Amino acid sequence: MSQAKIIDGKAFAAQLREQVAAEVVRLKAEHDLTPGLAVVLVGEDPASQVYVRSKGEQTLAAGMHSETHRLPAETSQAELLSLVERLNDDPAIHGVLVQFPVPDHMSQAAIVAAISPDKDVDGLTVTNAGRLASGLPALTACTPAGCMVLLRDVVGDLRGKRAVVVGRSNLMGKPMAQLLLAADCTVTIAHSRTQDLAAVCREADILVAAVGRPQMVKGDWIKPGATVIDVGINRIPKDDGKTRLVGDVDFEEAKAVAGAITPVPGGVGPMTIAMLLANTVSAAKRLNGIAE
Ligand code: NDP
Repeated sequence: MSQAKIIDGKAFAAQLREQVAAEVVRLKAEHDLTPGLAVVLVGEDPASQVYVRSKGEQTLAAGMHSETHRLPAETSQAELLSLVERLNDDPAIHGVLVQFPVPDHMSQAAIVAAISPDKDVDGLTVTNAGRLASGLPALTACTPAGCMVLLRDVVGDLRGKRAVVVGRSNLMGKPMAQLLLAADCTVTIAHSRTQDLAAVCREADILVAAVGRPQMVKGDWIKPGATVIDVGINRIPKDDGKTRLVGDVDFEEAKAVAGAITPVPGGVGPMTIAMLLANTVSAAKRLNGIAE
């Protein structure tokens, strides 16, 4: 039985980070501009701490300005919003990212609404979501944008392909579907109320799983030769009492059917921070009137 091509997201991400670093060198030399990213973390969620640390490290490694604001869990929403406002007004900062989840006493929607759309490098504001849906230039959520880089390389011409996105979150499923639509795919968005999900998935030339349910998508849900992008990051217990990371797709079953597939870890995950750096550079250029 033929085996799927394993899509090496780490290698793509390394390439993208190199391109970003080269562009940063150029912006410094030709425009005296150093792109800057500020990341705000409220509380001590362990996974968020890891993400925030690597965002800071990779921003610096790309030659950019990096700020990490760590606030205690009991910070009031008003205090957080006033920090966001300060960062919105700071000319050294071109990207503002508040790491989610935030503590329960805060409103995620209010925080997103406070971020300047020009510095919204996560693409979460209504302005950027609306611009994406309207086909206008927008800062686009990093993970879906990263998935598109992988898909364009693996699939090539996306026009007319049947794409199924499982999941409809504002961060992942919806922008992913919009990007595929903008690339002229025929797009279906599936979710927890979708009937006969397996049959819907089997129609896909491109199947994107962004659900958060370990190994939910089985081998017989996949059309032979399809390209499978697994966004899920789930921890499951191992026999030795430790845990391991798996995606939303049953990788062992899927790789015997798919034409190409992203592994977890090492597939979509590494693309997210690389795209965040790329978005920050784009935002810095737009804010300074420099053409893309
Ligand atoms: P959300 O929980 O916000 O959304 C999950 C979506 O999956 C919802 O739309 C939900 O449907 C749908 N869903 C849940 N259960 C089912 C089911 N049984 N059948 C079909 N659809 C279902 O998650 P996110 O979109 O934020 O993230 C999804 C996954 O991707 C997570 O594992 C997350 O960790 C990972 N992720 C990885 C990133 C990376 O690689 N860097 C970045 C972002 C996310 P409904 O709307 O009907 O409830």
